[in-house]
Amino acid sequence: MALTKSQYIWLDGKFVAWDEAKVHILTHSLHYANSAFEGLRAYPTDRGLAIFRLRDHTKRLLNSCKTTLLKCPFSADELNAAQGELLRKNVFAPNTSVYIRPIVFVGYGVMGVYHLNSPISVAIAAWEWGAYLGDEGLEKGIRVKISSFTRNSIKSMMGKAKVAANYLNSQMAKCEAIEAGYDEALLLDNEGFVAEGSGECFFIVRDGVLITPPSENALESITQDSVITIARDLGVAIERRRITRDEVYVADEAFFTGTAAEITPVREVDSRPIGEAKRGKITQKLQEAYFDVVYGRNDKFSRFLTLI
Ligand code: PMP
Repeated sequence: MALTKSQYIWLDGKFVAWDEAKVHILTHSLHYANSAFEGLRAYPTDRGLAIFRLRDHTKRLLNSCKTTLLKCPFSADELNAAQGELLRKNVFAPNTSVYIRPIVFVGYGVMGVYHLNSPISVAIAAWEWGAYLGDEGLEKGIRVKISSFTRNSIKSMMGKAKVAANYLNSQMAKCEAIEAGYDEALLLDNEGFVAEGSGECFFIVRDGVLITPPSENALESITQDSVITIARDLGVAIERRRITRDEVYVADEAFFTGTAAEITPVREVDSRPIGEAKRGKITQKLQEAYFDVVYGRNDKFSRFLTLI
C-alpha cells in the first residue's frame, strides 16, 4: 500500500522532516530483525483527532522491548506525549484516520548477532491510512486462505512481542495467500488450531455465539480485547476457546480484527462460503459499534480515547 507522506517524523526525541528520517545501512535491526514496534490509529472525533488505546499500545511496546532485551531509552509517559505531539505537529486531511507507527530498534555501531552493546533508537511516524483490507472488504467481506505456514512456534519465537523478526512468518503467509488469489491468510498453530491472521486476530460466530481463540499462539491484540468488551456491552454471548479448521468452514459468520484491519468480515475461506458469503449480522453490529467507539460517538468508552 503506497504511503501518504506527512511532514515530520519523531526520531530520538526530535522532529525531523519526513524525507530526512534516515538510518545507516549497517543499522543492526535491518540485519537481525530485533525491533519492537506498534501500530495505532487516531480517528477524527467531534473534539479533534483521538488516539485509540494509546496507553495500552505503549505498554505492549515496552513489554515487547523487555521480552527481546531492547532497553528503550524513553518512558511510557514520554512515548505517549511524543505521539500526541507528532499528531499536533503534522497536518492531516480532515476526516481521515491516521496510523501511528512507533518503533524501537537497534541502531548503528556494532555488528554481529549479540546486540546488547548496540545503541537503541526510537522513531515514531504517522500518516493517513485508509482501510487496510480495502473499503469494499469492510463492507462485503474478504476471501481467506488457511496458510501452509504454521504460526511461529512458541517454542522458538515469542509471539507476544510485536517484533519485526516474527513478521517473516506473517509476510510469507500473506504473500502465499495473495499470490493464490485470496485477500488474507489465516495461520494455524503447531497443533492445528486457529492462531491468527498475518496481522489480525480471528473471530467466528456460531448459533449467535461469538468465538475467538485464546492468546497462547497470537499477539495479545488490543482490538480483539476491544471487540470482546464491546460485545459484552451489547449482550452478545462470547466464548474464548480453540477453533479448528473445519469449525471455521461451517461458521455462520467470521471476521478479522486488528488496529489496521479494524473489523473486516470474512466471506469465504478456502473456497467455502462463510454463512451467506457476505458480512454477517453480528459482524455488522459489532463493526458499527466499534466505529462508534473509535470515532468518539459512544461516551461509555471514552476511556479508550486520548484526545491530542
Ligand atoms: N496479530 C498480529 C500478528 C498482528 O500483527 C496484529 C496487529 N498488531 C494483530 C494480531 C492485532 O493486534 P491489534 O489489535 O493490537 O492491532
